Amino acid sequence: MVNIPSYLNSFYLLRPLLYTQALTLQTVVAQFLQQVQAQRALNAFIKVYEQEATQRAALIDQKIAAGKAAPLAGMVVGLKDMISYKDHPLQAGSKILTNYIAPFHATVTQRLLEADALILGHQNCDEFGMGSSSENTYFGTVRNPLDRTRVAGGSSGGSAAAVKANMCHVSIGTDTGGSVRQPAAFCGLVGLKPSYGKISRYGVVAYASSLDTVGILAHTVADCATVLEVLAGPDGLDAMVVPYKTASHNAEAQQKNNYTIACLTETLHHDGLQPAIKARTLRSLACLQSEGNQVTHLHFELLKYALPTYYILTNAEASTNLARFDGIRYGYRGSDAVTLEEVYSKTRTEGFAKEVKKRIMLGTFVLSNGQYEAYYGKALKVRNLIKKALQEILSQYDFILLPTTTTTAFPINSFEHNPLSMYWADLYTVLASVAGLPALSLPNGVDENNLPIGIQIIGNYLEEEKLLAFARYLQSIQADSYPSIQKK
Ligand code: GLN
Repeated sequence: MVNIPSYLNSFYLLRPLLYTQALTLQTVVAQFLQQVQAQRALNAFIKVYEQEATQRAALIDQKIAAGKAAPLAGMVVGLKDMISYKDHPLQAGSKILTNYIAPFHATVTQRLLEADALILGHQNCDEFGMGSSSENTYFGTVRNPLDRTRVAGGSSGGSAAAVKANMCHVSIGTDTGGSVRQPAAFCGLVGLKPSYGKISRYGVVAYASSLDTVGILAHTVADCATVLEVLAGPDGLDAMVVPYKTASHNAEAQQKNNYTIACLTETLHHDGLQPAIKARTLRSLACLQSEGNQVTHLHFELLKYALPTYYILTNAEASTNLARFDGIRYGYRGSDAVTLEEVYSKTRTEGFAKEVKKRIMLGTFVLSNGQYEAYYGKALKVRNLIKKALQEILSQYDFILLPTTTTTAFPINSFEHNPLSMYWADLYTVLASVAGLPALSLPNGVDENNLPIGIQIIGNYLEEEKLLAFARYLQSIQADSYPSIQKK
């Protein structure tokens, strides 16, 4: 058991200490850097900007002392290796971006810096966000801080491991089909995927543009809310961002106990669902009911179409988004390539790993002339059906509650010989993704191996404020113990 000072766990706890000058950010950053060093075996960070972080900590300490600090002063943040930080390397977990240096800030990076957050480094992830275990990375598998023989989830696995192992307060990840929520569940954290269009993706590496979102991982709902407030909002640089300000967070939001909750029966009667997760989800529903909220069980026959729809759409979009990595514009160029065709083919053959290549091929197949209607066209239609059905439910109920994942963190290499079956890990997270709805994963106790379980709340489009208030309420009525770091 590692003894961790509580201010490493939450920005909320730290803030008053910094403002009363009981503590300096320089001390805090030194502690985080120590953790990064001590837990290098987790493979959570791939780049740590140590010197820069130390200097910036001194600067922010001065700002705080002078009463000139912005709202995130004191917060130490890690960025998934998908988010541009000007003049710093960016590789999206891939060999193909070797030596690429971001020439500009992502909008989220710009906003974090303007709010006086401190960026500690870039975090390991599945290549181009494709995976559910952070094993598909050029930088080696990320390990779960709670049990190093297991994965931390993916694709934002490094981001989750870093927060759980107290290397930073908060991580900024990306969530296309669950990449923030699933690692949050596997590591016992809060993970928020906002509505599609709530946070700008400018400067964020694209995977599947009609589903990509920037998400937040933290120890507490409060920290997620504070960061959302800074990151969300209009941005002319991403055409899909909602062009007006929508409420993100209201610390005073009224907690009530007359919520209406929908539970989708099919999500709880699934063969692959680990019994402990089912039991914990039912327990939460019972708990909500006993507090006076109304819980209704509904059928959702479309669940079985969610995964195939998601994977057809994302592979199709990825195949076009990743066409830009050709050995000419960015990073790595194939060895001994002479002709233009050789540059393309050698760069892409050597630069992408297996999973990415598989998805590009599947994506071009579903978009090809003879297959388009049968696959891509059909997936678009099913996506609409799922979206409409979920919207219909959310017009009658405040929230949909379901497990975040079918299992808790699985052992490393579990899917080595059957990579397709790893896609089941995303069964419950892709629902909100295909519908563009906000969803949050909350820790919900542990299984028989003491591994964390997540519960997922899906809210109405752009109603993050209400979602966060409910998450806080749910957490307050589920008095439970969560696992702390232990070595295995
Ligand atoms: N695991 C899912 C996939 O591989 C989700 C990834 C993500 O959200 N980036 O597509």
